[in-house]
Amino acid sequence: MRDSATSRFAAGRLGPARRRRDLRRLVAERFDVLVIGGGVTGAGAAVDAASRGLSVALVEARDLAAGTSSRSSKLVHGGLRYLEQAEFGLVHEAVRERGLLARRLAPHLVRPVPILVPLPAGTLPARAARRLWYGAGVALYDALAGPCGGVPRHRHLSRTGARRAFPGLRPDAFTGAIRYVDAQVDDARLVVTLARTAASLGAAVVTSARVVGLRQDAGRVTGARVRDLESGRELDVTARTVIAATGVWSDDIAAMLPGTRPGLRVRASKGVHLVVPRSAIAGDTGLILRAPPSVLFVLPWGGHWIIGTTDTDWRLDRCHPAASASDIGYLLAQVNRVLARPLGPADIESVYAGLRPLLAGEDEATSALSRRHAVAEPVPGLFVVAGGKLTTYRVMAADVVDRAARRLGRPVRPSPTAHLPLLGADGWAPLWRDRGALARRHRLPVGVVEHLLERYGATAREVLAAVAAAPSLAAPVDGAAEYLAAEVVHAVRAEAALHLEDVLARRTRISIEAPHRGEESARHAATLMAGELGWSPETVEREVTHYLAAVAAERQSQRMPDDRTADAARLGAPDVRGTAGDPAAA
Ligand SMILES: Cc1cc2nc3c(=O)[nH]c(=O)nc-3n(C[C@H](O)[C@H](O)[C@H](O)COP(=O)(O)OP(=O)(O)OC[C@H]3O[C@@H](n4cnc5c(N)ncnc54)[C@H](O)[C@@H]3O)c2cc1C
Repeated sequence: MRDSATSRFAAGRLGPARRRRDLRRLVAERFDVLVIGGGVTGAGAAVDAASRGLSVALVEARDLAAGTSSRSSKLVHGGLRYLEQAEFGLVHEAVRERGLLARRLAPHLVRPVPILVPLPAGTLPARAARRLWYGAGVALYDALAGPCGGVPRHRHLSRTGARRAFPGLRPDAFTGAIRYVDAQVDDARLVVTLARTAASLGAAVVTSARVVGLRQDAGRVTGARVRDLESGRELDVTARTVIAATGVWSDDIAAMLPGTRPGLRVRASKGVHLVVPRSAIAGDTGLILRAPPSVLFVLPWGGHWIIGTTDTDWRLDRCHPAASASDIGYLLAQVNRVLARPLGPADIESVYAGLRPLLAGEDEATSALSRRHAVAEPVPGLFVVAGGKLTTYRVMAADVVDRAARRLGRPVRPSPTAHLPLLGADGWAPLWRDRGALARRHRLPVGVVEHLLERYGATAREVLAAVAAAPSLAAPVDGAAEYLAAEVVHAVRAEAALHLEDVLARRTRISIEAPHRGEESARHAATLMAGELGWSPETVEREVTHYLAAVAAERQSQRMPDDRTADAARLGAPDVRGTAGDPAAA
């Protein structure tokens, strides 16, 4: 539990000293709940459990959001297409969560995004039928969100209205459109915010900490053996209950207890996104298009568009899912069906792939598998939570902590997280209102202050304090004009960043937003991190070399014709974690 003499902001700072302290806690304490996995589900579970007053530890094998939770379409949504599958309950739950996140829990991170449903050409009766069908769907979507959906309601647009909203659409590709509004979030930043929120409530949070075995006593799981990938040391963590929120690695956790039935099975489905510059497509809203076997989104993302996604079974390396040339070709072909100026490979700034953790059915195609979540207790004391989506992390977290709490044998309060603003949400609105004055006070352009407030909420004050203490940190990161050097330093001091890749891929999004994918920023960012983490020149060199090798391997994989060859190319670059003090990985 949190020390009441410390402010919530200070208690939520995940810097190197805090990591050392939390590592000592892992050995010294007996936790009510040990959460394995620092994706959105695990970080959400840690917030949920800590906010109920339970003692909590969260361990993550790589970095916060290093798995699926930094590779999504970044929508906070109900999923319009699930209405066609009559998943009304699922959609209702998700749009309710969208409203909570946008209005109360994370208004600094979650923003509305208008999306057009173009209505294709056809005979008059066919057009009327389509407008009726899609119109009814979108109206139902809004109705399920209720009056507190957190976003404006839909509107029907004529052909001219649609063309005005999206001039980049091919004139013969539509006869009108429906404009509805969903919401958008930087997925990796949401996870970091959740982890910091959990820490601010007293949770021990340790990244680069891989669970390599489960501890059992009298048929009950009582903790885990954890390897600190930074030092190579192993330690035993004792806990009354263990929650595995390990996404596509869920089956591995139950497999650590030989002879145990897993309780639930998870299948990985690969989803690929392209990132192209905003100037490549003329439009002011997002688009949702039918693309067999599912739908395709074209979503505005700052100075870029995100186009995705594919949905195919994946059984290869789960740490670095690779996009192949055929994935890229498929996405270009689908989006070019409706664009007046077709996109080509030269328009692509970056490509990223993620793996959906789907609850496994028997023979279904992955796009038809349910997006529901499930909680299982394969062995007393071990709870596995999987499925669901980014948007519904809070519901998943509350469900699994409810189940774990019953095992504690003492009364535990219900989840308060529907009323708990995440770190940075409290105090954000007045700062946003006064951003002009804030900018003047810190002698920064107002656009820079807006960028900080939208990424850090009220914790932007920490970044501004870093700039005030060292004005040179107001300079941009090399090759990434929109990010400040102070953000790199802040990522280490307060956001648990331990490696260059953590900063370039997840604390900032330079790896997907810059056409050089971070190559031009790597050395500058590593030098800034070195000052905070005490890196030697050799360590700086090692970090930069690892990062550049990963980018090169990723580019190479994207030239390969299929999954197998793309995977082999991506695996050409070793993971930076686990090479220090780990002879097996060296
Ligand atoms: C292409 C794509 C697009 C998507 N778009 C959306 C969207 O727009 N909106 C939406 O709501 N949802 C979306 N989703 C779904 C959403 O991203 C996922 O459901 C969610 O991120 C899963 O989070 P998670 O925490 O369960 O898994 P993960 O984020 O994968 O986290 C699991 C973590 O467990 C860690 N781990 C594994 N084994 C161990 C171990 N032994 N010890 C310690 N740690 C371990 C991993 O390193 C990983 O960080 C999308 C998914 C994909 C793939």
